[in-house]
Amino acid sequence: MEGPGLGSQCRNHSHGPHPPGFGRYGICAHENKELANAREALPLIEDSSNCDIVKATQYGIFERCKELVEAGYDVRQPDKENVSLLHWAAINNRLDLVKFYISKGAVVDQLGGDLNSTPLHWAIRQGHLPMVILLLQHGADPTLIDGEGFSSIHLAVLFQHMPIIAYLISKGQSVNMTAVNGQTPLMLSAHKVIGPEPTGFLLKFNPSLNVVDKIHQNTPLHWAVAAGNVNAVDKLLEAGSSLDIQNVKGETPLDMALQNKNQLIIHMLKTEAKMRTNQKFRLWRWLQKCENIITLAETGCLDFRTFCTSCLIRKPLRSLHCHVCNSCVARYDQHCLWTGRCIGFGNHHYYIFFLFFLSMVCGWIIYGSFIYWSNHCATTFKEDGLWTYLNQIVACSPWVLYILMLATFHFSWSTFLLLNQLFQIAFLGLTSHERISLLKQSKHMKQTLSLRKTPYNLGFMQNLADFFQCGCFGLVKPCVVDWTSQYTMVFHPAREKVLRSV
Ligand SMILES: [Zn+2]
Ligand SMILES: [Zn+2]
Repeated sequence: MEGPGLGSQCRNHSHGPHPPGFGRYGICAHENKELANAREALPLIEDSSNCDIVKATQYGIFERCKELVEAGYDVRQPDKENVSLLHWAAINNRLDLVKFYISKGAVVDQLGGDLNSTPLHWAIRQGHLPMVILLLQHGADPTLIDGEGFSSIHLAVLFQHMPIIAYLISKGQSVNMTAVNGQTPLMLSAHKVIGPEPTGFLLKFNPSLNVVDKIHQNTPLHWAVAAGNVNAVDKLLEAGSSLDIQNVKGETPLDMALQNKNQLIIHMLKTEAKMRTNQKFRLWRWLQKCENIITLAETGCLDFRTFCTSCLIRKPLRSLHCHVCNSCVARYDQHCLWTGRCIGFGNHHYYIFFLFFLSMVCGWIIYGSFIYWSNHCATTFKEDGLWTYLNQIVACSPWVLYILMLATFHFSWSTFLLLNQLFQIAFLGLTSHERISLLKQSKHMKQTLSLRKTPYNLGFMQNLADFFQCGCFGLVKPCVVDWTSQYTMVFHPAREKVLRSV
C-alpha cells in the first residue's frame, strides 16, 4: 500500500540509519562490518511501498514494517549479516518499532552482528537514552558482554554517554562491573578516554579506586598513567587512589610514569606522595599528643604549669616554648637573632663555637687592618699624633677602614656574648633564660637570691665537662642528661631542689 504520506515520510528521513561506533577520540575501531555498510549514505526512498523491512525499520516507516510483518515476515529472522530488526530499530531510536517487534515476539537480547552485540549495546553506542530505557523496561540484560568483552556500562563509558552511565548505575548496574579482561568502567575511562570525563563523572558514584584488572593487575591510576591521561590522573589522585599498588610487573604508577618519561605526571605523583606523607605525619603527631594527654591526665601529671598548650606535651625541665619556632626547646637558652633559631640543648655548644670563631675572625681582621696601615700608609701614631694619624689612614684606604669598623662591631658583641655565655655555663650552670628569670624573681623577694646556689651549678669543672660533654684528664666525668625527656631533678638527688625554668 502506498500513499503520499508514506512517501514524504521516507524522504524526510535523510539521516538514515546510524551505525554504532562513531565515538570521539578515535574509538571508531569498535565499529563492525555491517555497521560500516550502514554508514553508506542511503538514497532517499521515493517509494516506501518498495522498501524491504530492514530499510523500512532503519527509516522508521512504521506502516510499511507493520504491513510486512502482518504479511508473514518473522521479526526474529536476522538479515544476511546476522542483524535482527530489533537491532536496526534500536540503533535508529525507533521506539514504536521496537515496541511493535517485541509485541510480535522479537527477542530483546538477540545477539547479532560481527561483535555479537544486543540491540541494547547498539542503542548505547549511539547514545539513545530513550531506547535504553525502553529496552530495559522490556527485560534487556545490561550485564551481557559483547564480542569485544564490554558490558553495557563499559560501552556507555567508552562512548561518553554520561546520562546512560547514570541511568544504568541507578538501575542497579554495578559501577565496578568488570569486562572480560577484568577492567572496570573506571579503568576503561582512565585508559581510553583522554580528558577529565567520564572519569570524573564515574568517581561521583564511589567506584573502587584500588581494584586491579585480571591481566596486567593495573589499578585505574596505572591505566591513566599508561595512557598519559593527565586529567584522569588528576581526578584519581584527588579521589585518593593508592600510589603504592604494584601491577603484575611490580610497577607502581610512579614507576610507570618514569618509564614513560611523562614529566607532568611524574611531578603530580611525586607531589601527591609528599603531601600524603605530610598528612600521615601530622596525623601521627596528633595521635601521639592525644596519647600523651591521656597518660598525663590519668597519672595525675597534667599540670598546666608544666604543660605546653601549644605543643600539647608535658614540657621537660628547663625547656620553654618558643613562639617564633613554634616548638618547645629543651634547656632553652634564647632565640638567637643572628642564627634565626633557638639555642638550647643540642646546639648550645655549637653556638659557643660560633661566637668563639666569630670573635677570632673579627679580631684577626682588626689586627690585619693595623698591619696594612703600618705597611702601606706613611704615618704612625707616635710621630704624627692621633688626629693626623686618623686623617692619614682614612685617606690611605677608606675600604679597609670600613672593614675595620664592621669587624669591630661584630667583635664587640660576639666577645661580650661569648664571655657572658662562658660565665653562665662555667660559674652558674645556668642558661641565659634561667639567669634572667631568676634575676626577675629576686626583685620580688625579700632575701637576695644567689645565682650560684641552684641545683644546676655543679662546680666550675663539672659544669664545663657537662656542657661540652668531655672529661678533663680524668679529673671530672661528664654527666649525661637528656634534657629533652628530663622532667624531674633526679640526676643529682643530693642537690635536688625545686627549680623550674619555665
Ligand atoms: Zn611548646
Ligand atoms: Zn625559637
